Amino acid sequence: MGTTYNPYDNVLAVVKEAADLLGYSDSDIEAIKYPERELKVAVPVEMDDGTTHVFEGYRIQHSTSRGPAKGGIRFHPAVNLDEVKALAAWMTFKCAVVNIPYGGGKGGVVCDPSKLSEREIRAITRRFTAAIAPLIGPDQDIPAPDVGTNAAVMGWMMDTYSMLKGHCVHGVVTGKPIELGGALGRNEATGRGVMFTVKNILSKLSRPIEGATVAVQGMGNVGSVTSKLLYQEGMTIVAVSDVSGGIYKESGLNIPAILEFLGKDRRNLLKDYEEEGMSRISNEELLELPVDVLVPAALENQINGSNADAIKAKVIVEAANGPIAGEADKVLNEKGIVVVPDILSNAGGVVVSYFEWVQNIQSVSWTEDTVNEKLKGIMDSAFDAVYNIAEEKHVSLRTGAYLISVKRVVDAKKARAIWP
Ligand code: GLU
Repeated sequence: MGTTYNPYDNVLAVVKEAADLLGYSDSDIEAIKYPERELKVAVPVEMDDGTTHVFEGYRIQHSTSRGPAKGGIRFHPAVNLDEVKALAAWMTFKCAVVNIPYGGGKGGVVCDPSKLSEREIRAITRRFTAAIAPLIGPDQDIPAPDVGTNAAVMGWMMDTYSMLKGHCVHGVVTGKPIELGGALGRNEATGRGVMFTVKNILSKLSRPIEGATVAVQGMGNVGSVTSKLLYQEGMTIVAVSDVSGGIYKESGLNIPAILEFLGKDRRNLLKDYEEEGMSRISNEELLELPVDVLVPAALENQINGSNADAIKAKVIVEAANGPIAGEADKVLNEKGIVVVPDILSNAGGVVVSYFEWVQNIQSVSWTEDTVNEKLKGIMDSAFDAVYNIAEEKHVSLRTGAYLISVKRVVDAKKARAIWP
């Protein structure tokens, strides 16, 4: 990651560009440039070896203009204030582009879950939840999984919050275990949304889906589900990678075998996987492969000023948040590479989070087919709206997505007016 890279500045630049095109004044967008609330907390934990370690945590609410703040909790060593601010802002515009009634928020703890025991992760989760408890709640701010967290962590968050309140509060977090009111289909929702998006963009560009070559960077929840679903759609997944590096096979990798090898909690690493005819590549090399579709599904700033020129994919569908830095976006546009932006293509997770929250509030449960069908409806119509406005205004899909979402956020803010 470049030392000067500030993801929050990236978000502000894109928002400003859209606001100018929409004809908004500086005053119209002044307030959305600042997160509404930023909370930094100390998370003391008794480690397995008996020592005390204090982790640093954050919860940031970027906007509550359109509804409660909504967004995940990241457990990762690189978590920092500017990253969480950017992730919170992306949630605001993500919820707006798919038109679900939420603002945006995000949280994180600076830690490396791969080096912690389950008990230590649970202790971090509980103490962190208690520390941010004054800010969260089903009507205020609803966390969910993100990089390094999962359904189990959400279950512990829900339990901790419920214990503090003295009664069961299902709707305080989404992405929970099914037994605690988690939505069927939530675990696969982000990857499923990415799959719908890949199919949508290929069909708009009149490119075949069957046999299209794909490279996926990242084998976390989003990358692994996306690979599985694209493979099931008949695409040829030529490369995948994780923190340990990547693997490549021109005729297509055996994705079911890879997922089986990595295991349910993905504790195994690709560096130990073997398949006939495959070769090893680095994460950087994966990004530069001449594929039909590149899916960055890892972290921010993977495609930046230093490698943008070397990218050879025809289409990039952003499955991670912020994988392409602003400087790279311009280069890719000039090269004619079509980029489907994160706030649209990875919105499936928060859309099904919304379904989970709706079910929790009403004490009902929908079938997985209902969830998947409703998800497809929202992803397809948001995609069409973004595609159409981008065509009409002759702008990139990213700018198109921000034209829609910035308008929704600013108009909500203007309708509420500034208090007092
Ligand atoms: N962490 C996911 C995201 O970045 C999901 C957030 C949610 O479901 O609230 O979109």
